[in-house]
Amino acid sequence: MVTGCRDDRGCAGADHSRPLDADEIHRRTGSPVSYTGVIEADAGSVHPGKLAVGLHNLAIARGVIIHENSPVLEIHPGTICRLRTPADEVTAPTLVLAANAWLAGIPELRQYLYIVQSQVIATEENPQRLDDLGWRDGAAICDSQRQVLYYQRTPRGRVIFGHGSGLTAFRENFGAEFNRSTKRGRDNIAELHRVYPKLADLTITHDWAGPIDCSADHVPVFDHLVKHPNIFFGMGFNGTGIAQTPIAGRILASLALGSRDRWSESGLVGIGKRLKLPSEPFRYLGGRLVRAAIRRRNAIEIRNERPDPITRVLSDMTPGR
Ligand SMILES: Cc1cc2nc3c(=O)[nH]c(=O)nc-3n(C[C@H](O)[C@H](O)[C@H](O)COP(=O)(O)OP(=O)(O)OC[C@H]3O[C@@H](n4cnc5c(N)ncnc54)[C@H](O)[C@@H]3O)c2cc1C
Repeated sequence: MVTGCRDDRGCAGADHSRPLDADEIHRRTGSPVSYTGVIEADAGSVHPGKLAVGLHNLAIARGVIIHENSPVLEIHPGTICRLRTPADEVTAPTLVLAANAWLAGIPELRQYLYIVQSQVIATEENPQRLDDLGWRDGAAICDSQRQVLYYQRTPRGRVIFGHGSGLTAFRENFGAEFNRSTKRGRDNIAELHRVYPKLADLTITHDWAGPIDCSADHVPVFDHLVKHPNIFFGMGFNGTGIAQTPIAGRILASLALGSRDRWSESGLVGIGKRLKLPSEPFRYLGGRLVRAAIRRRNAIEIRNERPDPITRVLSDMTPGR
């Protein structure tokens, strides 16, 4: 969800949200399972495909050269950096690494990142069934589970239903399996049926997934590589990067241009003060244990029951909590 302030005094103290009781949530979303909620009237949502095409067209109009389908295979740092791609080499005096979860391929950055998979499913189009439930608008909805559920109705009447759960990667080394759940969205389907029991017969037409770059404290971070003052990076968007990347872009632009302003001096700049994650194999094994406990705790708390002490302790070991 994206929230926005209408004035330039900031959000502190401003009242942009309103509590919702269970009846109103049921009436607006058609789902009977929530106890309570909050609505942010100023919030909106962004169509990611249109955003990508719009940014692409704007960059081209401003004279930016975009090389597509040309993965960088090797970076040779220096006063002039050389980037090797399958077909050729590109040179640049200043480099900005904005490659999301793939930055975990750089050992210096990997120690601050862990990668998890986010999974999404989409149902067939059936606007009448959603209308009948009272789910008529396209509001972006999410819950407060630690492995958050996020969902939305499309204008044509599909349900898009996502879950920040799934795989973790050993040494943050992930492959194509992160693009699609091997279980074809089975966990998401179970959650969809829990949240919308009356939609259990809708056909699931799509399922997909992708890697999420999580920093230990769940806050994005920007800086340059320790030994290379002309190679900048931004990472750690933790699965909610769409609203954060406009700010990330300003910070990275100011750093790359050597400007001294509110962006380059933002508190988000500086990796030295950030939490490092344990090394392997402790990180992977610990991550699996903690994530399993979080799933167990979510399931127990959804039933309004109290988790056992081991589950509580383990699930509270989430980095940065
Ligand atoms: C399933 C899923 C659902 C999500 N849902 C939401 C949501 O509802 N709301 C939200 O705010 N965020 C969501 N996110 C997160 C959001 O997509 C990211 O936080 C955001 O895209 C980060 O932007 P970015 O520019 O840092 O990275 P990206 O948009 O991922 O761009 C990084 C680019 O780097 C490229 N790249 C990587 N390695 C190389 C290389 N070696 N050479 C050249 N190029 C390379 C990649 O191909 C990619 O194009 C979701 C993510 C997933 C996977």
